[in-house]
Amino acid sequence: MTTTVITNIASLVTNDPTLGDGSPLGLVQDAALVLDGDRVVWAGPAAQAPAADQRVDAAGRAVIPGFVDSHSHLVFAGDRTAEFNARMSGQAYKAGGIRTTVAATRAATDAELSANVARYLEEALRQGTTTFETKSGYGLTVEDEARALRIAAEHTDEVTYLGAHIVSPDYADDPAGYVDLVTGAMLDACAPYARWVDVFCEKGAFDGDQARAILTAGKAKGLLPRVHANQLSYGPGVQLAVELDAASADHCTHLTDADVDALASGNTVATLLPGAEFSTRAEWPDARRLLDAGVTVALSTDCNPGSSFTSSVPFCIALAVRDMHMTPDEALWSATAGGAAALRRTDVGRLTPGTRADLTFLAAPSHVHLAYRPGVPLVSEVWRRGVRVA
Ligand SMILES: [Zn+2]
Repeated sequence: MTTTVITNIASLVTNDPTLGDGSPLGLVQDAALVLDGDRVVWAGPAAQAPAADQRVDAAGRAVIPGFVDSHSHLVFAGDRTAEFNARMSGQAYKAGGIRTTVAATRAATDAELSANVARYLEEALRQGTTTFETKSGYGLTVEDEARALRIAAEHTDEVTYLGAHIVSPDYADDPAGYVDLVTGAMLDACAPYARWVDVFCEKGAFDGDQARAILTAGKAKGLLPRVHANQLSYGPGVQLAVELDAASADHCTHLTDADVDALASGNTVATLLPGAEFSTRAEWPDARRLLDAGVTVALSTDCNPGSSFTSSVPFCIALAVRDMHMTPDEALWSATAGGAAALRRTDVGRLTPGTRADLTFLAAPSHVHLAYRPGVPLVSEVWRRGVRVA
């Protein structure tokens, strides 16, 4: 293996509190990072860096862990420009516009779907995302859901079965029959391609009892649960997620005190998706309330053609700081180590000895610029597994 020292880093975010300034970000000024193949082997002050086979000059840029986007919906066809335009012209967002994407996705070829996933992943990579999760949920038949997961699995290990996105239009008069399908033949066909099982627990989608049945069936097949919870209204999703030891409860926009207490006492990460609130002009999740209660918070894009068509984690960081009152440090942590926690991963989202050499260089001296200079393409270089990829 070739070792590489990256030196002249103005500020390095390690997310290892034992390094640097002792903060959760483990911030090191005037730093260096040493890689051996696809792993980080050393991080610390440049003046103390060990020798390596080759040297890369960061030229005073900041280096952060590659973003871990733990929530996206990339296996789809078509778009929903008209729906967005109508909504921004005064109509309210309701669960169900998903049906438009279901029709387009069913009609697409495998090659078209795979090319779409590749295109949005390339877009995300150029914006600093090195690990991403993605879901099914626009097929809603046994064949179309299994196909979506098979295609997703060609692009990432973090694949989520979301047959329970909405009740299939084919079962509009028989939602119980659709739950039987999602927990039966569809699950059997999908489980081999997926790591996770998810459900949209919401009025107009699946209620608490249905969500429990779907997640429990998935767990019995070896899938790990995560939940779309409490996005559009108060409901049972968050407490169900904690009870079933889901890795993450995603959205968390409408929370009672009992929901916050449950998250604070359990192992379930609260994943906030401000792109969705931005794109639907909805009320922001109360990130401060969660953080002050000691809840682990992740920040992700929810990239999907209906309610949040952004692949940009830097954009979500800017929203989180400006509109959800997260500090720039908290937002950066949540988009890296927080995303990793939402995927129950410890090998990504940090730059400390033993972790994967997934890193993003910013054309700025500090990670704070991601919120300070919103909308500016600050990601200047991306490395994945020790290789420069963007
Ligand atoms: Zn989602």
